[in-house]
Amino acid sequence: MSTAETGLDAFRSEVRGWLEANVPSEPLVDWAYPEGFAQHREWERTLFAGGWAAVDWPEEYGGRGADLQHTIAFAEEYYRAGAPDRINMGGLYLLGPVLMQYGTEEQCRRWIPDLLSCETIWCQGFSEPGSGSDLASLRTRADRDGDEYVVNGQKIWTSMGGYADWIFALVRTDPEAGKRRKHDGITFLCIDLRSPGVEVRPLTMVDGTKGFAEVFFTDVRVPVENVVGEVGKGWKVAMSTLGFERGAVFGDHAKFTLDVQALAGLAVARGLEEDSLTLDEVGRALVETEVYRANVYRLAGLAAAGGDVDSHASVNKLFWTEMQHDIFASGLRLMGPDAAVLDPAPVTEGAPASVRHAWDRWHHRYWYARAAMIFGGTSEIQRNIISERVLGLPMEPRPA
Ligand SMILES: Cc1cc2nc3c(=O)[nH]c(=O)nc-3n(C[C@H](O)[C@H](O)[C@H](O)COP(=O)(O)OP(=O)(O)OC[C@H]3O[C@@H](n4cnc5c(N)ncnc54)[C@H](O)[C@@H]3O)c2cc1C
Repeated sequence: MSTAETGLDAFRSEVRGWLEANVPSEPLVDWAYPEGFAQHREWERTLFAGGWAAVDWPEEYGGRGADLQHTIAFAEEYYRAGAPDRINMGGLYLLGPVLMQYGTEEQCRRWIPDLLSCETIWCQGFSEPGSGSDLASLRTRADRDGDEYVVNGQKIWTSMGGYADWIFALVRTDPEAGKRRKHDGITFLCIDLRSPGVEVRPLTMVDGTKGFAEVFFTDVRVPVENVVGEVGKGWKVAMSTLGFERGAVFGDHAKFTLDVQALAGLAVARGLEEDSLTLDEVGRALVETEVYRANVYRLAGLAAAGGDVDSHASVNKLFWTEMQHDIFASGLRLMGPDAAVLDPAPVTEGAPASVRHAWDRWHHRYWYARAAMIFGGTSEIQRNIISERVLGLPMEPRPA
């Protein structure tokens, strides 16, 4: 019987049983630290071996072909069990869906299974110095030479760049077309980061973690078969990628529900359960996560009925990133003076793992929440898209 045919209750109990037997009893170290990254990679291998790495993906690539209802049920059980965060985000949430939409059968078979088992970690090479919000102004070039492209240029703000094996990048293959219209002549190209001429320089984040990087390309030779989608039409592929980045990850509402429960627990631990500001913040967070959950169900219904969910991506991103920010800002406020400490050692030395975990949860994720309002397109850009393309308001003035 396929997963889609398995009754939801039976499916939930199968998932629950597997998670109970396999989820590590102690929380893993945050994946932003090398030690934590190695632990998470091991967990991803276990998840893949159990066939749970991407339940909604086709079976031939390592998924289970689950429908949206089962996919959401899996995510709810996953977060409820306290299972670790997923680390191959660029591969799992961005490249995989893009390959299934635009890639060839050969590309899917070549890249998807390794991506799911975390043998290959992927990162996203879109932004460049001067080309963030104005992404279409990007300048990294790829000039055709026989059966290869020769890539020169620079990417920046590359999440996971320090750990990744491959990068999916936007490159300019037709600069002349770009002079007429900057969105034209761009191509979506997958590049092995071990190729000669690639230099990955780590960037240190404000919270001291180092997985972030900038990536330089000097005469890097890339086979033409690594192009995903049509040559020169990469803007369309990029917009789909950003749609996946901004849109609903079906089931992630369960994570935010847990965060609000933890926020309420923190308020009690700090003796602030009667404090009116705290009650107001926790109550608001609870309402917002419930609204978000209802919206995920609504979008799942819409998607199942063949409706257009892409146009909801910007609304969704704006909502979840600001909601997440508010939850973690409240968490930091409740932590009191400990929140001001960047190096956790003085606060957590000699303390039980749960204390270290609490620090990681509130402190590190607060900074991540701030970053989420920037990556994948800033909140200001989402508001522009919503006003112009969803609400049909007048366009913002463009430079002449
Ligand atoms: C933690 C983190 C991870 C990231 N990971 C990746 C990654 O893996 N791969 C990748 O390619 N990129 C990544 N990025 C880059 C991210 O996509 C860009 O930072 C983002 O698109 C903004 O571009 P910018 O930094 O160049 O800022 P700018 O575009 O220079 O914007 C500066 C400010 O001006 C505002 N602004 C710009 N244009 C407008 C406008 N038209 N209307 C109103 N306001 C405007 C912006 O909202 C912002 O506040 C990441 C960024 C962060 C912070």
